[in-house]
Amino acid sequence: DLAIFLEIFSASTKRELYVRIFFFVVIAFFLQMLLRSVRQEIGQKEELTKLTEKLERANNELQRLDNAKSEFISIASHQLRTPLTAIKGYISLIQEGSYGTISKDVSMALNKVYRSNERLIQLVEDLLNISRIESGRMEFKFEPVNVSDVVNSLYDTFILRAKEKNLTFTINTPQNERDAIVEGDLSKLREVISNLIDNAIKYTEKGFVNVTVARHRDVVRVIVEDSGIGIPKKVSSQLFKKFSRGKDTSRLHVEGTGLGLYVGKNIIEAHHGNIMVESDGKGKGSRFILEIPRKQSLH
Ligand code: ADP
Repeated sequence: DLAIFLEIFSASTKRELYVRIFFFVVIAFFLQMLLRSVRQEIGQKEELTKLTEKLERANNELQRLDNAKSEFISIASHQLRTPLTAIKGYISLIQEGSYGTISKDVSMALNKVYRSNERLIQLVEDLLNISRIESGRMEFKFEPVNVSDVVNSLYDTFILRAKEKNLTFTINTPQNERDAIVEGDLSKLREVISNLIDNAIKYTEKGFVNVTVARHRDVVRVIVEDSGIGIPKKVSSQLFKKFSRGKDTSRLHVEGTGLGLYVGKNIIEAHHGNIMVESDGKGKGSRFILEIPRKQSLH
């Protein structure tokens, strides 16, 4: 700047002097602008650093609270599980006649107690699973799993309930046993498929529930299809979120929690698989599709 300023005095003609003064003013103006914007930028940067620090602190605090919440759920659920298991055991003993013969009415009432207790056990199990998922403590034991066997045994578990609702319940499994083998965690995969069949029966008033197992290239697909209340397009992407339930569902089926699909999605993702839902809309049935890789080593 100074150099340009001094140059003004080395002008030889009047015209040249004007031109030089003009250039000096223009350059001084731009330099002033530049300085101001640099100052502004430095100010903004400082502000940003402060904000980032604040956010980081808030984030840490949230993380701490979240951990405390997971810890709380975990402890509470463990404490709840023990008495529920005791209740289950004693109901079975009474039903079997270990405490003397019981009337049909008492037996029917006990059946209801048993089922409600089972629901509570499932809820506690879901809550435990959620706290495991969120604290990264869910452990998987991978081994060869025959998905057809899982579906067959679930058929035995659910056929009575399907019959009670007058639903046709069918399963299709591949002829070649090898086409149903995946590398997975048996009890967790069983839990996911069990929840899908449980839902299909729960949300279907008439018609059918069908489960198909089939190999498709590197994955084994399990399709659980029903002719039930269906799922509106808008809702279908929401269903896999925690505590998410369909709008009509909570009115029709008070007993649900909206946890099953969330837990299922997490389990399937840990297997590098996919879980999807298709439905032609309300009242038109639903199709839940699981894709489980046959070999985990390919991922
Ligand atoms: P829950 O059944 O305990 O509510 P889920 O996570 O298993 O929890 O399911 C979440 C929601 O997805 C259900 O509340 C219901 O609205 C919907 N849903 C699940 N399966 C079906 C199905 N087969 N047909 C219709 N809706 C379903």
